[in-house]
Amino acid sequence: MGLINSIVEWRNAQYDKRIAKMEARGICPDCRGRGFNVFANEYYYSSSHIECGGCNGSGSFADWNGR
Ligand SMILES: [Zn+2]
Repeated sequence: MGLINSIVEWRNAQYDKRIAKMEARGICPDCRGRGFNVFANEYYYSSSHIECGGCNGSGSFADWNGR
């Protein structure tokens, strides 16, 4: 169980680090401030831009954080 706990802790630490970095830049962690998500396999289709559900398309960390 110790190993699994270590992995969980490591993953949480990586997540917190990423969130902190995005917060410092003021951008949404889900879409990296773009306001939409693009799926790699649909990249060539212009209609594949899905509005980010985390920030409602604003790309702002404040909106993402306010969920
Ligand atoms: Zn977003």
